[in-house]
Amino acid sequence: MSSPLSVPPRPELAVPPRPRFKLLGRRIGGPRSLWAWPLLLSLVFVAGVLAWMIRSDADDREARRAELITDALTLESQLSGALDVETARLKALADDMGAHRITPDAFARHALVLDGLRRFWVSVTWVNAQGRIVAQVPDDALPPNAPLRAGNSERGIAGHLSVALPNRGGLLIARYSSVNLLRQRVPWWLARKYDVRLVDTSDDIIASTVDGERAFDQLWYRKAMGPSMAQGWLELASRERLVPWWRTLPMALMGGFLLLVAGASWMLRRQMLAVERAEEAWRTEAAWRTAMEDSLAVGLRARDLEGRLVYVNKTMADMLGYQPEELIGVMPPMPYWLPDEIDQSMRRHLRNMAGQAPREGYESRWQHRDGHVLEVMIFEARLVDAQGRHIGWMASVLNITERKRLEERERRQADTMAHHSRLTMLGEVASTLAHELNQPLSAITSYNAGVLNALQRHAEPDPLLLGALQRLGEQAAHAGRIVKRIREFLTRREPQREQGDINQIVRAAVDLQRRDMTRHGVSLALQLDSSLPPVLVDPILIEQVAANLVRNACDALGTKPGVRLLQVMTALAPDGRFVKVQVSDNGPGLGGQTIETLCAPFFSTKAEGMGMGLAICRSIVELHYGALDAEEAPGGGAVFSFTVPCWQENDHHDSGHHDSDELAGDDEPTSQKGSP
Ligand code: ADP
Repeated sequence: MSSPLSVPPRPELAVPPRPRFKLLGRRIGGPRSLWAWPLLLSLVFVAGVLAWMIRSDADDREARRAELITDALTLESQLSGALDVETARLKALADDMGAHRITPDAFARHALVLDGLRRFWVSVTWVNAQGRIVAQVPDDALPPNAPLRAGNSERGIAGHLSVALPNRGGLLIARYSSVNLLRQRVPWWLARKYDVRLVDTSDDIIASTVDGERAFDQLWYRKAMGPSMAQGWLELASRERLVPWWRTLPMALMGGFLLLVAGASWMLRRQMLAVERAEEAWRTEAAWRTAMEDSLAVGLRARDLEGRLVYVNKTMADMLGYQPEELIGVMPPMPYWLPDEIDQSMRRHLRNMAGQAPREGYESRWQHRDGHVLEVMIFEARLVDAQGRHIGWMASVLNITERKRLEERERRQADTMAHHSRLTMLGEVASTLAHELNQPLSAITSYNAGVLNALQRHAEPDPLLLGALQRLGEQAAHAGRIVKRIREFLTRREPQREQGDINQIVRAAVDLQRRDMTRHGVSLALQLDSSLPPVLVDPILIEQVAANLVRNACDALGTKPGVRLLQVMTALAPDGRFVKVQVSDNGPGLGGQTIETLCAPFFSTKAEGMGMGLAICRSIVELHYGALDAEEAPGGGAVFSFTVPCWQENDHHDSGHHDSDELAGDDEPTSQKGSP
């Protein structure tokens, strides 16, 4: 399904390129000149139509002219034919007059004269050889020598036919109406098609089928009349006016079309300029947006209503170790959700999709592509389109891993400070205790020495008693040393590091706890690597650490039924520069507690536990640059271990502090030095 939300992936260029337009594979420029193309193409089209029209107009004229000429020739031959017939009749009359003696009266009654007058002639005049009129029918007609152009009732000018009279000399002249000639002889269809005129050589109209002169825009043709009307010309002028091609309707339509296209082009240009300006503004905005997104330290992601990622910015993609394209289109479960928090993440996703994401944002944990975990703070907001429809969710994502780490460090520092202040307080208590215990311990040592001396003065002292008293003295002195070292440590004195044998130290620590082991029925397995190099440690403190771990193991085993196993091991650490001491038991285990919790000051699960043992152990080990660790044993139980550094050749300066006079000093018990 296509998403209604489509944010274009961020282009690589800061500013998107201008679109280019192509026509037949050739680039035709940007939108700036595009508007002119319809106009240009229309002009080409109109030019083509014009060429065609001019051509067809010329062809048309040619055809009409040919037709006109044909019609003129035909009409001329018809008219000339008619005049020739009349001339022949006049000649027949003349011949008849030549054959018979005819008086002017008989001439007036002559059948041919009457027939001619009835048919066509206006008058017939008989002129003798001297040029005098002998007879004229009708006698009121104009004389034949009257000016030819004198008008009569008919429009136009009369024509005349004349033939010579044979034998007696003279002429017979028949006058006729040129207008009637045209009226009778021009067929109706030709008269509708053409203005027909008879003109003389000086361009005067003899007769015409229409009034008025020939118009300038008429197509016309003149043909000289035959001998019956020498000097006369027949003129045919087409009634259909010559309309120049540029004044025709198609031309008007073309002009209108061009105007419309020009108008449309102008509007298109305005529109394109507006679009271009808008596009320019959009491009600027896109460049701004890209620059802003690039400068943002905040990740941005947009999801559609189904939860599909439709946009992520570079910061967000970088935060997760992906390319933006790899994330776009991805649906929940997201690849960056923590595998063991998928259910929780899905619940939170559904809550967000239901629009119930907390307004003040929420924290989440994501997994980077390389596996490391990120802490993020997410703020969700509704995403709406131009119509205000809800189309998805936009979120800004803050990487707060570093902040969290700093907070955690601060918290730990605060804890450490609290721890230190407690230790300081404890140091004070211990110091006071040491001071207070010193007296009774010194007294015990002194009395013990006194009793020993007194016994040794007897002849046969009981060796058992002597041995016990000696060990009593040793233990009292040892107690004194422990008190002193712990006090020194708590009052932040440097440990007295020296070259030592870790196996020996461990053995001494185990020996201190033998009584506990026996009491709890614990079987001990000692695996001490005899090839270990010497270590650089304060033996008393490290012995306390080992002893504490063994005591804790015994305490844990004491609560367990069945076989109780304790294993103490020493070995070289993998890096070869440290020695590792490991104390494992098959007791109840750590119950999921981490070393951090176990080492927290005053953490204890024992009724009378103080919860300081491991905290002090860790401080001692870390003072030696080692590390204390705890984990569940594979078969049940706990494994505690710590490392201490091996003695190096150049460490002998440090080891020079060996305190051979441990019990010397104000607060020390006086050891076995003397009797009270
Ligand atoms: P305390 O011994 O006074 O309780 P510690 O700091 O020595 O104080 O020990 C803290 C807690 O660590 C103990 O209360 C116990 O719950 C746990 N612990 C220590 N060692 C072991 C062990 N070997 N097996 C199980 N739990 C242990």
